[in-house]
Amino acid sequence: KVRVRFAPSPTGGLHLGGVRTALFNYLFAKQNNGDFVLRIEDTDQSRYVEGAEQYIIDCLNWCGITPDESPVDPGQYAPYRQSERKSLYRQYAEQLVMQGHAYYAFDTAEELEKNRKEIPNFQYGQVYRDGLRNSLSLPQHEVDQLLANHTPHVIRIKVPADQTVGFTDMIRGRVSFETNQVDDKVLLKADGMPTYHLAVVVDDYLMKISHAFRGEEWLPSAPVHLLLWEYLGWKAEMPQWAHLPLILKPDGHGKLSKRDGARLGFPVFALDWEGSQGFNGMGFLPEAFINFLAMLGWNDGSGHEIFTLTELVDKFSIDRINKAGARFDFEKAKWFNAEWIKKAKAESLKAKVKEVLTDKGIDVKDDAYLITVIDLIKDRCTLLTDFYQQASYFFQIPAEYDLNAVKPKWSDEKTAFFNEFISILNKQEDFTSANIEAEFKLLMEQKSLKPGDVMLPFRIMLVGGKFGPHVFDIATLLGRDETINRIEQALA
Ligand code: GLU
Repeated sequence: KVRVRFAPSPTGGLHLGGVRTALFNYLFAKQNNGDFVLRIEDTDQSRYVEGAEQYIIDCLNWCGITPDESPVDPGQYAPYRQSERKSLYRQYAEQLVMQGHAYYAFDTAEELEKNRKEIPNFQYGQVYRDGLRNSLSLPQHEVDQLLANHTPHVIRIKVPADQTVGFTDMIRGRVSFETNQVDDKVLLKADGMPTYHLAVVVDDYLMKISHAFRGEEWLPSAPVHLLLWEYLGWKAEMPQWAHLPLILKPDGHGKLSKRDGARLGFPVFALDWEGSQGFNGMGFLPEAFINFLAMLGWNDGSGHEIFTLTELVDKFSIDRINKAGARFDFEKAKWFNAEWIKKAKAESLKAKVKEVLTDKGIDVKDDAYLITVIDLIKDRCTLLTDFYQQASYFFQIPAEYDLNAVKPKWSDEKTAFFNEFISILNKQEDFTSANIEAEFKLLMEQKSLKPGDVMLPFRIMLVGGKFGPHVFDIATLLGRDETINRIEQALA
């Protein structure tokens, strides 16, 4: 059975690259009727951030890619938080020591720091291992003594010399590493917590993970993981790996980092996080968000760009994932959102638009009216927040008129036009867009006025500015009384 996992560390807000990793895991799982597991990798207590786990869960829910198994909805492989699995890992580390694939290391932080300072390119591994305080270099009785005294120690993997280890990545094909380049990573820390390297291997094994998509930045860790799978005797069950291409800054130079958002003026988090606005808060639809994330490093080859989650599950294919980094383009992301707003039914946008308007102090009383408004203006909105500017005049008389653009050229003739137009409107039987337009144009001709003379001012009277849909559609929706009221207010 296909089982994939998204295994974030709860160290802060979820960067969009993290969400893309979750999405690709999800798409692959669902395409293969498999399970999508969320495992919280919180073994590094020093980097633990309160609230980050809940944030991750909220993010996945917002995106519509809810895990099948997670800390809040555990399955048969519980617990799903590594900190709660702590007691499980030591036995595997000890087993590796017994087999000669790992060893105890007693070096203090100060000793290691000193070595790092004094030895150029110091790495804890084959070259320097002998000169350090560990169970490979010290005599056995000394090691026994140190252990008997409960001397703080870690367990490190013993990376072999002069070997090439490799695996077949689902995206990159054959990838191999020289073990001489790999240091003896800590597996179990002095506080008894496993490091990421040990925990990820043990848990992927125990949770029967069959495939794993993760960011390219984890590729350098792969040789350590490969050795562990082999030494623990589980090699046949190792998941198939896919290392996803990096998401690059808009200029293509370097990886997009959490800090880039503030600097470059766009969000990098899915949801708002500690004062940084996320895509949600900025007014993105989750459908648009996952759509553009899917296109960061993948396409279906047809030139098609708009996909629902269901379509993505159907179309997703590993052989169409790029190896090269994917440039993040915020303008393109906004284009996706505009397309999704256009595509959405007014009914499905209603609650979100209502929230935007209510936040700005607009009291939406009539839902049916709101739906008509949304239908009229949604093609003009890129972000959900744009609904405020595009819709507010349907609910309240404009606070300011941009009549300045018109006023200098104002004339008694134009005032007379509008007064006459008011009396026509009062008498008009059917207050429909087509009828108002016909009357307006007829009067315009009779008075030998041009659209620029009166049509634009009419719009400004109703809307407050030079924007919005067809002006006669606006008038119909506002209704006869309000249309007349706004003309009178503007002329006053
Ligand atoms: N805990 C790692 C992270 O924070 C998981 C990496 C992996 O998928 O192996 O991304």
